[in-house]
Amino acid sequence: MQPVNHLLAQTGTTIFTVMSALAVRHGAINLGQGFPDTEGPADIIQAAADALQDNRNQYPPLTGVPELRQAVAAANARFYGLNIDPDGGVVVTSGATEAITACLMALINPGDEVILIEPLYDTYLPVVKMLGGVPVLIRLAPPDWALPRAALTAAFSPRTKLLLLNSPMNPCGKVFTADELGFIAGLLVRHDAYAVCDEVYEHLTFAPARHIPLMTLPGMAERCLRIGSAGKTFSLTGWKVGYISGPNALCAVVAKAHQNLTFTTAPNLQRAVALGLQKPDAYFAGLADELRAKRDILATGLAALGLPVLPTDGSYFLTTDISALGFPGDDLAFCQSITAQARVAAIPVSAFYAADPPKNFVRFAFCKQDAVLAEALARLNAWMQSAKTLTAAV
Ligand code: PMP
Ligand code: GLN
Repeated sequence: MQPVNHLLAQTGTTIFTVMSALAVRHGAINLGQGFPDTEGPADIIQAAADALQDNRNQYPPLTGVPELRQAVAAANARFYGLNIDPDGGVVVTSGATEAITACLMALINPGDEVILIEPLYDTYLPVVKMLGGVPVLIRLAPPDWALPRAALTAAFSPRTKLLLLNSPMNPCGKVFTADELGFIAGLLVRHDAYAVCDEVYEHLTFAPARHIPLMTLPGMAERCLRIGSAGKTFSLTGWKVGYISGPNALCAVVAKAHQNLTFTTAPNLQRAVALGLQKPDAYFAGLADELRAKRDILATGLAALGLPVLPTDGSYFLTTDISALGFPGDDLAFCQSITAQARVAAIPVSAFYAADPPKNFVRFAFCKQDAVLAEALARLNAWMQSAKTLTAAV
């Protein structure tokens, strides 16, 4: 038999699926894969149900239903003062995952260099490689995850096509500052490069941190493709509705990628998300406030257990440093052990590196009900009290 695609053959099953399966096997509380354990807003769900009944269930337009494209453009103006054309500057996709691939397909020619920042979300690297892009990796250093400016400057070359920027950042909860974004923007202009901006956690930032799209900086509107996710913004991760905003010239090419990937996205979900994006400011502020309280519950609880917690300004996640625990294994072994023995699942941060990762950081999701977080902390406490359980799971 002929060999299958060698890059996909080498790609393992995503760590989120691996840890969720392990959590189910052990009846563990799943603080691994990032999804809320409560439903999103009832009115949006009702709108999606109603929209199934009104005879608009055939193929929606390629770039998205007009209601959603208009709502995405209006949200860009309302939250960031961005001027996006609803007819030419928005592409609706089946989740941000598709959006990332579509944007990369639109920009990369084989041999182009793509700057990626570790720790990095797990779809970036395989997709860049599949497209023939050459990944150039730089690395943020814990505990503060500051941008290494000299390394970033050195990563640019005449072959640089784009930088992929994730802010707020998964897994470390970093929100890039105005100063850091200004530095990045300067390099993009100097090297005539693009940015694909994965901003799925745009509304999940914790004051005083504030999300600033790179696209809002001078000279950036023509160079950036900005990606949002209804899954994150409306706590409906299974819906897989994403949206790309950008200059018309780039979005026209992104639309060609989208037409070859999925062509379109379920119309009822698009129309419900359009309503969601028109919710009052209080909805978006409330979402962030609720999550911040959950972050504090988990951070305080983990710290009390002797697990140092790194600062998190946005996203669903916080990371802890396990090196002081004396655990006889790496982050993956730790996550396997707590899933099997404490019955609390988490994600090893080493999964967010291409090679040679740090092995002492573990990511916990806090987008869970307060009682669930409390139970998870109680289970971890009981496990840590029992010294004999501090052994790697087989
Ligand atoms: N980017 C990041 C950084 C993420 O954490 C996720 C996780 N869901 C995605 C993209 C994918 O978003 P979606 O579920 O809308 O495809
Ligand atoms: N983004 C989610 C996380 O980081 C996972 C999404 C997925 O499982 N594909 O946990």
